[in-house]
Amino acid sequence: MKEGIHPNYAVTTATCACGHSFNVGSTKDEIKVEICSNCHPFFTGKQKLVDTAGRIDRFRKKFAGFDAKNMKK
Ligand SMILES: [Zn+2]
Repeated sequence: MKEGIHPNYAVTTATCACGHSFNVGSTKDEIKVEICSNCHPFFTGKQKLVDTAGRIDRFRKKFAGFDAKNMKK
């Protein structure tokens, strides 16, 4: 390897928004992630929607009284 041109690859601590931290190999000093294997619904088995703008709530409210039968003439 040529000296001085390669970034320093080392084990770094990645911190997730849920508070969970884990070690990864990286060239960066610090890594921040929004979702990890500790809090992702796929791994937790729980439904945890990341709905920051309230879009899902708005959608549910809009179609709360929706009935498919009423669409027919
Ligand atoms: Zn997490």
